[in-house]
Amino acid sequence: MPLPSDIVVVGAGIVGCAVAYELARRGASVQVVDGRRPVGMGATQASAGVLAPYIEADERNRVLFDLAVRSLHLYDSFISRVVSDSGVAVRYQRTGTLEVTTSDERMATLRNVAARLEAQGLPLGLFDGRAARAEEPFLSGDVVGGLLVPAHGFVSAGELTRALAAAARSHGAQLIEGSHVQRIEEVDGDLVVETDRGPLTGNAVVLAAGSWSGQIEIVGLAASVPIRPVRGQLLRVMWNGPPLRRVIWGERCYLVPWDDGTLLVGATVEEAGFDERTTVAGVRDLLDAACDLVPSVWTAGFIGARAGLRPASADQLPIIGPSQVLPNLLYATGHYRNGVLLAPLTAQLVADAMLDNRIDPALEATGPRRFGRL
Ligand SMILES: Cc1cc2nc3c(=O)[nH]c(=O)nc-3n(C[C@H](O)[C@H](O)[C@H](O)COP(=O)(O)OP(=O)(O)OC[C@H]3O[C@@H](n4cnc5c(N)ncnc54)[C@H](O)[C@@H]3O)c2cc1C
Repeated sequence: MPLPSDIVVVGAGIVGCAVAYELARRGASVQVVDGRRPVGMGATQASAGVLAPYIEADERNRVLFDLAVRSLHLYDSFISRVVSDSGVAVRYQRTGTLEVTTSDERMATLRNVAARLEAQGLPLGLFDGRAARAEEPFLSGDVVGGLLVPAHGFVSAGELTRALAAAARSHGAQLIEGSHVQRIEEVDGDLVVETDRGPLTGNAVVLAAGSWSGQIEIVGLAASVPIRPVRGQLLRVMWNGPPLRRVIWGERCYLVPWDDGTLLVGATVEEAGFDERTTVAGVRDLLDAACDLVPSVWTAGFIGARAGLRPASADQLPIIGPSQVLPNLLYATGHYRNGVLLAPLTAQLVADAMLDNRIDPALEATGPRRFGRL
């Protein structure tokens, strides 16, 4: 079968836009379709944009850890290429993270993690409570220590997604907003994407519809794509006083300091179906957690809250790889808590597979096959 050149990407979140950009940049003719407008209005608009594969490294699945580290390594060049191709500014910083704890037991775990990562040559700082407060003077007196990872960073997920869409367009991609995809079907060797505003046809499709991926009918598939929504709420407050120096990651929340004085406080993890509303309970839990971690948050101005549905698979790994049922349908979904971090690598893996028939060994673990005949 010839390699595809005419590709429809379903979903214009950060994953769909990154994939569309990479495919268009490598010469494919690309249409990106999304039911909402503008781009990035799914989980992506709620994301904190933290790029931190080594956080909670002890709890991460090994495959996910390796993917996340690979993707972080791509980030500097990814951002400079996207900014240069789009002409859109993207706020992106590699100020590091400080993962802190108030429990001696967790501190022992952080010491083990640090020893393991240090053996891999990763620059780190391991601090007791006093040294952690010397690094971040606003931290609570209850903090008993922390692990600093200077390689980590954060990015504005919204700006990056808009820049990716513009960069894709600069390479000829067409963006179709406000068209809801209902069905994908093979007709005479092409793939037809049925939308509520008419069909789109290509010789390949990338399904990047985040939490809603399972709601799109794929003709010939016995089951739907096994992705469930996991709601996350995130707050924005206006910090008073000298800025925090880096992302602070606690046990019940994390804080992301922007240089405009705003602070993001994330994030809840809730099974709430497809309900995208913010809630009093979510806001209150996050504010309590933030004030416990950094008591001066009490004096911050409250700006607002947002919520998004993280697309989760049963094993918390993304689903990236070709369908076994429809030739030239490829999945790029299920990125759960790491879609922003994994966007550059996902785009690369998809474009390598689709345009060059290069199947990265990672697709063995991320492929849809692990959930049956998809
Ligand atoms: C509160 C919160 C904090 C987070 N923080 C981080 C973080 O710090 N770092 C990180 O890496 N990740 C983070 N994430 C996770 C990250 O946001 C997601 O993994 C990522 O946004 C998923 O991107 P996506 O493009 O797959 O999905 P989405 O952004 O949800 O995009 C899917 C798109 O598909 C479209 N779509 C769906 N169905 C259809 C249809 N039938 N027809 C047409 N279009 C359709 C939707 O409209 C949407 O635009 C966070 C998530 C949340 C909620």
